[in-house]
Amino acid sequence: MKPIPFMPLGAITARRAEELKAAAARVIDSGRYINGPEVAAFERELAAKCGVKYAVGVSNGLDALRLIFRAYIAMGLLHEGDEVIVPANTYIASVLAVTDSHLRPVFVEPDPSTMNLNLSLLPQALTPRTRAIMVVHLYGTPCWGSELERIAAERGLLIVEDNAQAIGALYGDRPCGSLGNAAGNSFYPTKNLGAIGDAGAVTTDDEQLAVTVRAIANYGSDRRYHNIYRGFNCRLDEMQAALLRVNMRYLDEENSIRRANAAFYADAISNPLLELPASPAGATPVWHQYVVRCAQRDRLRQYLADHDIATDVLYPTPPHLQPCYNEYAHLSLPIAERLSREVMSLPVSSALTAEQAGYIARTINDFR
Ligand SMILES: *Cc1c(COP(=O)(O)O)cnc(C)c1O
Repeated sequence: MKPIPFMPLGAITARRAEELKAAAARVIDSGRYINGPEVAAFERELAAKCGVKYAVGVSNGLDALRLIFRAYIAMGLLHEGDEVIVPANTYIASVLAVTDSHLRPVFVEPDPSTMNLNLSLLPQALTPRTRAIMVVHLYGTPCWGSELERIAAERGLLIVEDNAQAIGALYGDRPCGSLGNAAGNSFYPTKNLGAIGDAGAVTTDDEQLAVTVRAIANYGSDRRYHNIYRGFNCRLDEMQAALLRVNMRYLDEENSIRRANAAFYADAISNPLLELPASPAGATPVWHQYVVRCAQRDRLRQYLADHDIATDVLYPTPPHLQPCYNEYAHLSLPIAERLSREVMSLPVSSALTAEQAGYIARTINDFR
């Protein structure tokens, strides 16, 4: 068998190449490259997909999250120094979005079986300065629950979703990206819905937040040459919007193939040295990553590499141990640290064939 790549993006994109090229040509010929009809149409289509009233296309996922916090500060709902709860095992971008606005991240440990924020630890993490909770639907698994809704309602906390990895996932019948007050979405090329470059979006039912994000992302202007905020340029462009509209037509299919691949692994992998991912009750994940845990992760990865199976590790270092956050290095977050040593992602994209998946499962089952 040929070597199995982790995520053969070029091969997946190639299936849609003609449609993508037609969309690109349409933009080139239109003479409209910024703030035109493609972005407007993409925003409408994304809002419908996520079940929200508003979607604002932006430059990337980090900017989507960062703009949400900037907008809440502009709206007077957050203030510098306020505490925002974040999962301790998230991607660095979740935390960068918090500290960008001089908000204080409060790291909370994940549940080791779902690898999402452990909601039962929320009460002890709250302080009088807590103003928001950032839930991250890590690896495509919804992070939500009635206790989260109750605490947020009782304490008047904002809930911001990092929905970079979970577009199309459901909690009950509610789509991720519509669960909290606002969500940051990423269309980085390897995400389940990817652009041909960088792109992102904010989704929300809150009109004032949507309007504020849109203004801050466009130099802080509410109308041309009139600046009410000291903003940025974080716009989505027409080219990426047009390409995303093509890829969005394939999202449901991509997600359902990922679900079938995950179901196959859950059934076929039986090696007791590995722990398979658990989905919480009521959650329909989209398997952005299929993450197994193994105490001998590095040896398993090498063994799979020796058998021509590519894997990845998200993430080898938790944010509080990154050099840029050395003020948090003293924190004791043993579960996040253990996960960073034990997690490993298997190929799960729509490019994976049944033959490859079977070979991966058999090879893993033979690992001693
Ligand atoms: C990808 C990602 C981001 C950042 O998105 P970009 O578009 O790469 O800026 C943020 N959070 C999580 C969990 C991600 O996976």
